[in-house]
Amino acid sequence: MADLIVAHGLVVNGNRSTAAHVVIDDGRITALVDARQPVPAAGRVIDAAGRIVLPGGVDGHCHVAQITGPYRTLDDYALTTSAALRGGTTTILDFGIPRDAAETPLAAVEHKMELARQARCDVALHAAVISWDPTVPDQLERLAALGVRSVKLYMTNRGTTMADDDTVLKVMREMARLDGLTYVHAEHDAIVVDCTHARAAAGEIGIEHLHRTRPELAEEASVREVLAMAEYAGAPVYFVHQSTPGAVDLVTAARARGLAVHSETCPHYLVLDDTVYTGRIPERFACCPPMRSPETVAALRARFAAGAVDTIASDHSCYDLTQKREHRDDIRLMPHGLPGVETRLPVAFTALTDALGSCTEPVVLQRFADLFAAAPARVNAIPGKGVIAAGYDADLVVLDPTETRIVLGADLHMGTDFSPFEGMRLRGWPRVVVAAGRIVLDDNGFHDPGPVGRYLPRLGYRDRRPLARERS
Ligand SMILES: [Zn+2]
Repeated sequence: MADLIVAHGLVVNGNRSTAAHVVIDDGRITALVDARQPVPAAGRVIDAAGRIVLPGGVDGHCHVAQITGPYRTLDDYALTTSAALRGGTTTILDFGIPRDAAETPLAAVEHKMELARQARCDVALHAAVISWDPTVPDQLERLAALGVRSVKLYMTNRGTTMADDDTVLKVMREMARLDGLTYVHAEHDAIVVDCTHARAAAGEIGIEHLHRTRPELAEEASVREVLAMAEYAGAPVYFVHQSTPGAVDLVTAARARGLAVHSETCPHYLVLDDTVYTGRIPERFACCPPMRSPETVAALRARFAAGAVDTIASDHSCYDLTQKREHRDDIRLMPHGLPGVETRLPVAFTALTDALGSCTEPVVLQRFADLFAAAPARVNAIPGKGVIAAGYDADLVVLDPTETRIVLGADLHMGTDFSPFEGMRLRGWPRVVVAAGRIVLDDNGFHDPGPVGRYLPRLGYRDRRPLARERS
């Protein structure tokens, strides 16, 4: 007798959908049984008739308990991973970013591994390098041995997290040697700094002006430079939070000429535009890159719907409005970043299904399953995740794709007091969430599984190919 069966749902994977009963034993999927067959015997059966069953989400870009200068996000692992589960995300990837010059990349990751013992969902990690020194290659090698197969580099944030070009090139070369992936925050620092200075001189440096200090050109200029360095170093690269169609197009063109390159965008860049900065409580939208013009958002959404973006990630960061307001008159001093791990599914699902004109067509649902779960697992080489098939972890989300709810920040659980999506009517709300075979959300609410989240060591970038073959 199986532990659990999710019966009669439409099981949606990245490349196909089938009406099936999902059989779960010992935290894993053991079989998919044709829905025309009787439901096999099980300790518990969840009826998913009339609903879709998606793979549990994989959020490739989260910041948990992050310290940036004088600010610390208001969450911890218990809080953020519980919010992730409530939102249908069963695996997150967090970053070990050195808090200051004294902390090494290896120590930053080890610190996060310690914190992640409180995780409710599964966790994998990225490292980050800020400045090169002769110990970096050995640290990266040790990180790879721990299953941390990616390093993030910031092309901006001079004086805090920015890496200079020499560091960028050397890290890319090391990551290529170690069969790893380089994550990049691409904004051209000199352009951003010059633009910010000009705005400050004009007395326009409050949150109302954020979008005018970080132009689209700065993002695209940086993507061009990074692609050239990646090509020179022979390194696979992954661009986080792409916010313009031009940036996405540069990735598409680079891939067409044979580079290993990936594009991520975030829910907020698909549904919010820069008019938020002149609207109510603009502090709720303080992030970098900022929201773009309505025309840019429409064009980015079209690229997203057309399949030009690989993954959708939250870039989750939990500051509250008090922290955001403290320096609302000077964006250079504000903490940037938005809470989003809990709302990634409904915001992205609504954006995609609106753009493609259907929330029930299998091809649309499959595109979503790929962006939300399969592709982040595949690109980050995390075995056993992102696919509903025998042998994979039993991470599932059951939802009614037509059900809508209005976002109320007060009803969310992310360790902050606002949502940038407040008041939006969205589709794609989990009704049941299963993580490693445990029912963590159902009609009776959230069931905290306790600190059962596992640390997931990742494979190398080239080793991920078998994962792609298993897509079904
Ligand atoms: Zn980020």
